[in-house]
Amino acid sequence: MKIISACLAGCECRYDRKSCRDEKGVGMLRAGEAIPVCPEQLGGLPTPRPPAEIVGGDGFDVLDGRARVVDRDGNDVTEAFVNGAREALKIAQTAGAGRAILKENSPSCGSSFVYDGTFSGKKVSGVGVTAALFIRNGIEVQSEEK
Ligand code: SF4
Repeated sequence: MKIISACLAGCECRYDRKSCRDEKGVGMLRAGEAIPVCPEQLGGLPTPRPPAEIVGGDGFDVLDGRARVVDRDGNDVTEAFVNGAREALKIAQTAGAGRAILKENSPSCGSSFVYDGTFSGKKVSGVGVTAALFIRNGIEVQSEEK
């Protein structure tokens, strides 16, 4: 069993209430091979919501208290992101998922790149908060782009 970012499976759970539907992801869902989760919704954030970026590092730094997640309006949403990551991990562990296909570039789900915290569209190497927590707990993470 795998975890998949819910937006890849067609859920309109992105900050702008759109999906990132990916036919491979939808196929895994239909075949019963993947469980969709949206960590940001699981953390209690509304949809739609202002976009958020990690400021001062990546998901590992957020988990270690060295970086924060801030939305475009300047609100600190770190707690919701960390809580959502923990809820997503609970689902993954309960399902016995050893792998996760996560949406690239997201401050939660990115597995190679995240935006740099300036809301200027610039990406930097790094992982999102949920991807970091999954990796720390032995879950293999890959993006939909691979
Ligand atoms: Fe998709 Fe992950 Fe963002 Fe939810 S948190 S919308 S699953 S990329």
